[in-house]
Amino acid sequence: MNPEIHRILKIHNSPKILTRFEEYRELVKAKAARNGAMGRRDERCIADGNELLRFNCSTFTCDLGLNGSTSICNQQYCSVCGIIKSGFSPKMDGISTLSTSWRAQMAIPEDVEEEFKFMNVKRSMLVCRVVAGRVGSEGKEINKEDGGFDSVIGSGGGSGSGAYTKLDEDELLVFNPRAVLPCFIIVYTV
Ligand SMILES: [Zn+2]
Repeated sequence: MNPEIHRILKIHNSPKILTRFEEYRELVKAKAARNGAMGRRDERCIADGNELLRFNCSTFTCDLGLNGSTSICNQQYCSVCGIIKSGFSPKMDGISTLSTSWRAQMAIPEDVEEEFKFMNVKRSMLVCRVVAGRVGSEGKEINKEDGGFDSVIGSGGGSGSGAYTKLDEDELLVFNPRAVLPCFIIVYTV
C-alpha cells in the first residue's frame, strides 16, 4: 500500500502571513532570551525559535493544482485553501504536526477514508515550517503564563511517561497558529 503522489505544489505565502510567522519567531526568541538571563538557557530557541520541519495532514475539495490551476477556492469546507488564505485556525487541543509523512498519513482513520472517497475529498500533506519554541510534554502541568512551553509533545507516541528522548518520532502540538507556516502541498492518494 504505497501512497501515490500526484503533484507537489509550492505555496507562495502572502507578505502578511510571512510577517506574522517572523513576528511570532521574534516573540519566542525574546522570551527564550529572558529565560536564559534567569539561568535557563536554550540556545536553539534563542537562535531561531527552535524551527522544525513538520508534516500536517489536511484535505481539500477543489481542483487545486489540477492542470496547472493555482488559484485557491472559496469553498467553505476546503481546508487547504483556507489554510493558505488565512493560516491555520486555533484549536483547543493544538495543531497537530508530525515528524514523518508516514505518521501524518496514519493520522486519518480508515472509516473516514471511505467517506472521503464518497464525498470526493482529496488528501494532502502540508510540509510546514514550525517555530516550536520551548517544547513540553503532555501530562505535565503546563503553565502558559509563567513563560512556559510554546508547544507540546502529544500523547500519540511513546510511553506517556513524559520521558521523551526522540522528539522526531512524535506528534508535536502547536497552540499558536502563527507558529506554523505551510510551504508545500503534496497531493496524494493511498
Ligand atoms: Zn480549495
